[in-house]
Amino acid sequence: MSVLTFKFGGSSMGDARLIRGVAQIVQDSAANGNEVLTVVSAMTGVTDTLINTARAAAKGNTDAYIKATATLRDRHHEAARELVHNPAAQEALLAELHRLIDGFQNFCRSVAILGELTPRGSDAIVSIGERLSARLLAAHLQELGAASLPIDATNLIVTTGHFQSAMPLMDKTRARVQEILVPKLKAGILPIVTGFIGATEDGITTTLGRGGSDYSAGILAACIDSDELWIWTDVDGVMTTDPRLDPSAQVIPVLSYREVGELAFFGAKVLHPKTILPVMEQGMTIQVRNTFNPTHPGTRIQPEPEVLGTVAKAITIIPDVHLITVAGRGMVGVPGIAGRTFSAVARENVNLLVISQSSSEQSFCFVVRASDSTRAVRAIQRELAEEIKLQNVDRVWALEEVEIITIVGAGMREVPGVAARIFTTLAEERINVIVIAQGSSDVSMSLVVNSGDAQRAVQALHRLVINGKHAS
Ligand code: ASP
Ligand code: MG
Repeated sequence: MSVLTFKFGGSSMGDARLIRGVAQIVQDSAANGNEVLTVVSAMTGVTDTLINTARAAAKGNTDAYIKATATLRDRHHEAARELVHNPAAQEALLAELHRLIDGFQNFCRSVAILGELTPRGSDAIVSIGERLSARLLAAHLQELGAASLPIDATNLIVTTGHFQSAMPLMDKTRARVQEILVPKLKAGILPIVTGFIGATEDGITTTLGRGGSDYSAGILAACIDSDELWIWTDVDGVMTTDPRLDPSAQVIPVLSYREVGELAFFGAKVLHPKTILPVMEQGMTIQVRNTFNPTHPGTRIQPEPEVLGTVAKAITIIPDVHLITVAGRGMVGVPGIAGRTFSAVARENVNLLVISQSSSEQSFCFVVRASDSTRAVRAIQRELAEEIKLQNVDRVWALEEVEIITIVGAGMREVPGVAARIFTTLAEERINVIVIAQGSSDVSMSLVVNSGDAQRAVQALHRLVINGKHAS
């Protein structure tokens, strides 16, 4: 008997048939004597629809939200009618769905009138997707005879007021969860909590950022002292690489917190990178499981790595990035240029994905998303205007058409010769490595290569991961 937190992503909640499968998994686990807390995402594609519609409304496009309202209503009503047959229960559910979707339409109308979509307004609008899906699943479980309840996380997860990427206030959240949620679990109720959303102390709805339902589940799992957190998704587990890049990709049975953190940061779409933060202290085990293949053991994520003496465990890729370089012979020994550059970039809210400095101090470079590149370069040019004028800094420029490839595995630290194997492999493929950066967590190494070489590089390195078991 365990306390388990389950999170089901949008692709597991796509329609009535899939929601039935989710209910089955939750009920089976409860029947085995577990206390089960369930966290759900919106039905597939709903969050995108809500955001795109709200943006269109801000531009005065009223047709878009009238159409979107009708589509959302049809889709959720159809699911409701298939999942709940008891007439009174169905009527109550449909009324709830109506109320939420009417709310969406009213929000969009206000946005269209104001001609502006604020981050706060956006969060209020997109939160509706999870509110809808949680009600569908809970009502279906009730129809199956389970004691189940939908709960909006706005009552549980207390956050900062950083709309669109709010941070949880863990002490306050824990107090709410202990008061509201834990007694329900103890009473054998199956709570269905909305992922992705929270609220400030004043009760204003916030969201934790795109893909944030995983993070919600991590926060709640920590606050109920769950024994394990299970992330239910649409693949068998975390893969050695993206199977679209290399069909020989395999499921990785065991990963450490740090390894999975690096994978998530560097583009593997497995888990929101913040998911592990709240559960780390408790050393909670996370399992990644396939909703459509529930008997597959998936990937187990644990505090410490399993060092296998292999080259690495996984290869990821981040396309659509630019490499920004700041170069100048006059930079040698002048302190503060890098610091000011990074501060200028940070003020623009641009994330740095990889940073590297040449030992001669004549240049340093870093990688940003392509969509941030122009803004970042302009901010640096403004910040370093004086140095550029004095020619201490000769140039700030962005190299396009590059991709980041990251090799992840705790063995990279323990096993000698790994770097040599990696570079020999790339040299044999005649792939030019533009930048090398050893991850600060020392379980990863990132390389910047030309876009044209990226897929070949991934495939060659993946062969090394799969076949080249021993590095020495
Ligand atoms: N529905 C939200 C999104 O699509 C949160 C999530 O699915 O994790 O970003
Ligand atoms: Mg997700």
